Amino acid sequence: MAEETYTGKVERTLVVFKPDSVQRGIVGELMSRFERVGLKINGIKMTSPDRDHLYHHYEVISKMASRWGEKALDGLVSYMMEGPVIAMVLEGVEAIEVVRKVVGPTDPKKADMGTIRGDYSHVALGYMHARKVGLPNLIHASGNTSEAEQEINHWFRPDELYDYPVLAEKYSR
Ligand code: ADP
Repeated sequence: MAEETYTGKVERTLVVFKPDSVQRGIVGELMSRFERVGLKINGIKMTSPDRDHLYHHYEVISKMASRWGEKALDGLVSYMMEGPVIAMVLEGVEAIEVVRKVVGPTDPKKADMGTIRGDYSHVALGYMHARKVGLPNLIHASGNTSEAEQEINHWFRPDELYDYPVLAEKYSR
């Protein structure tokens, strides 16, 4: 049997409901999936990030242009500016990986049913990439520990994040 690897760490991760999930009116439905697996919300806000903010998020932190090219980055930033987004910080055991599992892989066509992207979107990555526009796949979720830390600092001030016990924690001490 393969040995399970786990860090056992309580982590924080950034989730952004992109303009397509806000405009489709499904934020509540999608958010309930994170609550359903028991993740804690540390902070949440609606915001309209400008080009500089998104450039920092996608290029300085995630190196999008180096991975996909300048045009894909431009298309992505324009798509992210099509309307307000809702940013949220979630906390839980290995939350970064758990949230990625709930969201599903980048390409909606490849995302399994049961994941957010599999259940709520279908437009294939290749189709949008060929048109040099951003792929509407509903959610951004931090990819690893370093990204999560940088992204949370980029989107939230420390006084916008709250530490509190969830009910189970409150009565287990
Ligand atoms: P993820 O959001 O799953 O972490 P990436 O960090 O690779 O994926 O890409 C960031 C976002 O950029 C994706 O969620 C998607 O909206 C968009 N995107 C990624 N690759 C492409 C591409 N080749 N063409 C158009 N948009 C893309």
